[in-house]
Amino acid sequence: MSNKFEFDQLNFTVRPNLKNFLPLATYRLLRISGMEELFGESTGPVLYRLGKILSTYFKTEREDEFLKLVKDLGIGIPEIVERSDDKIIIDLYECMTCAGLPITGKLICDLECGFLAGGIEKVLGRKTKGTQTKSWTAGNDFCEFIIEIF
Ligand SMILES: [Zn+2]
Repeated sequence: MSNKFEFDQLNFTVRPNLKNFLPLATYRLLRISGMEELFGESTGPVLYRLGKILSTYFKTEREDEFLKLVKDLGIGIPEIVERSDDKIIIDLYECMTCAGLPITGKLICDLECGFLAGGIEKVLGRKTKGTQTKSWTAGNDFCEFIIEIF
């Protein structure tokens, strides 16, 4: 059985009372606390890789489709703020992982970084490497990712 689903399949539920409601706290419990428990110092690289893999699950061929997907999935609201042949800088507002968290000095949005890098890689058909440079946890009010294009 495949573990790949279309967005509509993932979004379909048979939960008469709870429907699609899921507190962000539940996601953050899994993502921040749970993953750190399991993977320790490897959490960042594991989540970056996971993000890249998951970005290939969706049939987005154009950049605008991909950016809409990021918003529809509730990952955050992406905005491309700089673009050249070898680099795209994406600001992500309302990030699912860090928006509103206390400042710790750590950049922890590796899943988002991998997802954005993977999506851009797929759209452009060129290899990418993403690096997070801003975050709520670093004192910013949005996340920023530099996607290097090779
Ligand atoms: Zn973030």
